[in-house]
Amino acid sequence: MTLSMRSENEQRPVELDLTLVTRYAATFISRTDLYPVQQPDGRYITLHKPLGLSLIMQHLLGQITLGAYLLDVTSTAKSICLDADTDETWQGLLTLARSLQQQNIPAYLELSRRGGHLWLFTEPLDGSFARRFGKQLLAEHQLSSVELYPKQDQLVSGPGSLVRLPLGIHRLTGRKYHFITPDGEPLAPTFREQITLLASPSRVPFGFIMSLLVKTLPSVEAPKPILERNPTSPAPGHTLSERIKARISVLDFISEYVQLDTKHTGFCPFHDDQKQSFSVNVEQNYWHCFAGCPGQTVIDFWMLWRAKYGQEGSFTATIKELRDMLF
Ligand SMILES: [Zn+2]
Repeated sequence: MTLSMRSENEQRPVELDLTLVTRYAATFISRTDLYPVQQPDGRYITLHKPLGLSLIMQHLLGQITLGAYLLDVTSTAKSICLDADTDETWQGLLTLARSLQQQNIPAYLELSRRGGHLWLFTEPLDGSFARRFGKQLLAEHQLSSVELYPKQDQLVSGPGSLVRLPLGIHRLTGRKYHFITPDGEPLAPTFREQITLLASPSRVPFGFIMSLLVKTLPSVEAPKPILERNPTSPAPGHTLSERIKARISVLDFISEYVQLDTKHTGFCPFHDDQKQSFSVNVEQNYWHCFAGCPGQTVIDFWMLWRAKYGQEGSFTATIKELRDMLF
């Protein structure tokens, strides 16, 4: 292997431009109001100062080593990191990575001082959803001793747990650890190419996240959608889901389940909401949760609602129910 990143004291400086570093930071950095710096003994101290791009540049150049928090100030995550620190759990994580690869689910393996990490990048997700997704993924692969980051569903005090910001130098070993494929090959031949890949990572498809999340929601009594049947003319040439979305007013439908104020905002039913994060956009007929709950359409809403009440929350089961009610 001819990996420049392998050398402990890189002779040739890595060429990094600000655009690349900005995008790399967008992948991994959730907070810029404070940052953790690794000490020679491997521990971190948190500095309550703004985290600017120059510090991230210094990290990538190996001059300092930063940690990264997984949750932002609103307890939203845009990635999960699975941490294996024994040989056995690392083998399990490699098996999981291969399984995800076979399903075309993007995930990124990173070597570490012991074992390594598996990163999955997502659309912004409420911390509790991100963790439920991660826990379900680990449970389905019998990886109960792999650690899941973020470690908190929601921040109460302090910024929560951190992981080493990738592609810096571990202060304890003096080494840089790179990303690999599930077969153990370098993810890209040079350090700069690895940064470039991580600067625009492939994200886990929403449908895959949803398919695991719905298995984790608590079950209570099963609800029924409140809809008026109108069997006439399901518009031809459109998919069933498009026809369902066209037929249902998100505002009218959701108002039956969520108390909305005159601005069409309310408490989100899908996370522990203290701030009325949930809103309906009437003109464009979609809903949104500012805390990062996944979904936009009436179908997404009903998938989550069904799953919340212990019904099968799959896309197929949900549109079947809505179709039977509507057409
Ligand atoms: Zn929410």
